[in-house]
Amino acid sequence: QKLQRAHEEREDATFSFEFFVPKTSQGVQNLYERMDRMYQTQPEFIDITWNAGGRLSMLSTDLVATSQGVLGLETCMHLTCTNMPVSQIDDALKKAYDAGCENILALRGDPPINSLGEEEEWKPCENGFRYAKDLVSYIREQYGDHFDIGVAAYPEGHPECDCDDKLLLHLKEKVDCGADFMVTQMFYDVDKFLDWCARVREAGISIPIIPGIMPITSYPSFIRRTQWCQINVPDNFLELLEPVKDDDQLVRDVGTELMVELCQKLLDSGYVNHLHMYTMNLEKASLMILEKLDLLKRSNVGKDVIEPLEPLPWRK
Ligand code: FAD
Repeated sequence: QKLQRAHEEREDATFSFEFFVPKTSQGVQNLYERMDRMYQTQPEFIDITWNAGGRLSMLSTDLVATSQGVLGLETCMHLTCTNMPVSQIDDALKKAYDAGCENILALRGDPPINSLGEEEEWKPCENGFRYAKDLVSYIREQYGDHFDIGVAAYPEGHPECDCDDKLLLHLKEKVDCGADFMVTQMFYDVDKFLDWCARVREAGISIPIIPGIMPITSYPSFIRRTQWCQINVPDNFLELLEPVKDDDQLVRDVGTELMVELCQKLLDSGYVNHLHMYTMNLEKASLMILEKLDLLKRSNVGKDVIEPLEPLPWRK
C-alpha cells in the first residue's frame, strides 16, 4: 500500500505525470528521455496509459518494464479488461510484476475505434470481465496485496450511466473489490468537483481522490476535449480564453493562470492532496502549473523549461 501510505503521510501536496504510448520507436525514445527528466522533479509516480484492445496495448508493458525496471521510476500501469482475453491480462500483470511495478490503474476501457473513426460494438471477452470491478477483484485474487490498485472516477458523469447516484454506487463497488485510490476524469468546474467529493465521502468512500488535471495548451484542443469528455466549461474560462483564442501563447498563459487557481482551490479544500497531470507527453505546461503552485520546490529540475510569465492583462 505504498502509494496510499505515502499519500496519507505527506503533508505537502504531491503530484504525478501521465504519459501515453507513442506510435513510433523514435517517439518512444524521446518519451524515455522526457520521463527520466520529468521524474527528477520528484513526482510520486508516473503513469503509462493502455490502448484498449488496440495494437499499441502490449507496448505499454514494454514501457513500464523500462521505466520501472530499468530507469527505476515509480510507475503505475493502466490496464483495461475489454476486448482482451484473460491470457493477455495475465501476461501484462506478470510483466509488470517481474519489472518490479507495484501500481495498476484497473479500467474497463472503451470499445476500439474503427478506420472510420467510429466506436466498434462492445463485446465482452472470453474471460467474462464486464466491468473494471471484475479486473480489480481478479488482480487481488492473483496478486494479493502486491499491487496498489487505482480506479477511474467521473465527477461529471459517465456517458453510459444516466444516474449520478448509480455511478457512485459503481465506484463504491470498485472500492469494495479492493481499489486503493481513484483518479478522476479531467474537469474545469471546480465547484462541481468539490460537491462531488462531498458526495463521495458521504457515500462512505474514503480512499484518496486524485484529480486529473489537464493543462490548457490551445483553444481548439481545450474545446474538443471538453466536448469529448462531456464536461462543463465554467463561464470565466470561456470569457478569458475566447478573446485570445487565436494567440496560442496567450491561451497557454491564461490557461496556466486558470489551472493554477483551480489547483489551489482543490488543495485548499481538504479533499485533495495530490495532482495527477495529464501531460499529453509534453513537459512545459504541466511543469509551469506545478512551479506556480510552488510544488517543484524540492527540486531545481524543470525550472529551466519555464519562462517567467508576464502578468496577465486582467491581473495588471
Ligand atoms: P467501469 O467502472 O467498469 O464503468 C463503466 C460503465 O459501466 C460506467 O457507466 C458504470 O457506471 C457502469 N457500471 C459499472 N459497474 C456496473 C454494474 N455493476 N452494473 C451496471 N453498470 C455498471 N481507457 C483506456 O482505454 N486506456 C487507458 O489507459 C485509460 N485511462 C483512463 C484513466 C482515467 C483516470 C480515466 C478517468 C479514464 C481512463 N480510460 C482509459 C477511459 C475508460 O476506460 C473509459 O472511461 C471507460 O468507458 C470506463 O472505464 P471504467 O474503468 O471507469 O469502467
